[in-house]
Amino acid sequence: MVLLDGKKTSADIRKEIALEVEELKKNNKKAPHLVAIIVGNNGASITYVNAKVKACKEVGFESTLIELPKEISEQELINKINTLNNDKFIDGFIVQLPLPEHINEENIIMAINPDKDVDGFHPTNIGKMTLNLPTFIPATPFGILELLERYKIETSGKNVIVIGRSNIVGTPISILLGQKRNVGNATVTLTHSRTVDLPKITKQADIIIVALGVPNFLKADMVKEGVVIVDVGITRVEDTSKKNRFKLIGDVDFKEVSQKASYITPVPGGVGPMTIAMLLKNTLLACKRK
Ligand code: NAD
Repeated sequence: MVLLDGKKTSADIRKEIALEVEELKKNNKKAPHLVAIIVGNNGASITYVNAKVKACKEVGFESTLIELPKEISEQELINKINTLNNDKFIDGFIVQLPLPEHINEENIIMAINPDKDVDGFHPTNIGKMTLNLPTFIPATPFGILELLERYKIETSGKNVIVIGRSNIVGTPISILLGQKRNVGNATVTLTHSRTVDLPKITKQADIIIVALGVPNFLKADMVKEGVVIVDVGITRVEDTSKKNRFKLIGDVDFKEVSQKASYITPVPGGVGPMTIAMLLKNTLLACKRK
């Protein structure tokens, strides 16, 4: 079994990005600038957003964190977004999800200028992605493609099963892997909570992408020998032995499934760090496109 090491691969990508930033600066061009907006004080969101801002600094980007109170109105948040849309010194920005209940996520995503939407969530960018046109691919599916590519995992003609149909992971990765592209040309089945007899389907899979958010959901008796496993799930579970009092659990029962898999991502250290690296890649792209 080979570990799909997202920590190492993302470090390689960050190094490549840092070199490109140095090159930009040498040519008297400005470094890419990413802004992250966070609304409220959700613990997991704060951790993710801080990791993104830290990663920006490490590769030589400029980065700004905008922290807004959870009581902020939808209109006030849209006003903030409009300011960023019109600021020519900002290449890309993200609004960390989830948002407080009184704010409609769709309205917020729609307010972002698609040229600065480095999360790739705007319908214009999703549309371009679906048509296989140049765009910002959402960071998590982008990270999965990159991981498969760098480990030279063949996807062409393979039977891929995706578990979970979210707009940010399951649906886009199922579209991308089915496309005529370098890491693509697969026969993809998108499964979800209404799928009947999931184990019968997963047992046919050459590659399984698991993104449902149920810890240890995928068991060894649901997969065939030699399967490639990409575990996107991250659930925080209390662990008093840890300094921060929680641990991260994936959607795959790693102990069992790794016995049968040919390649598998660990949690943590698999898809998570790749997501951050690809956000940086999208921001660099936004800067170069301007
Ligand atoms: P989500 O929470 O929006 O949706 C879950 C999906 O799983 C739904 O489409 C649902 O139909 C499906 N589902 C639920 N129960 C199922 C079952 N029993 N069988 C089959 N399908 C079932 O999904 P999300 O936002 O993609 O998040 C999924 C997981 O991935 C979460 O743990 C999340 O924290 C994690 N995540 C990780 C990263 C990363 O960078 N590693 C990024 C995004 C999300």
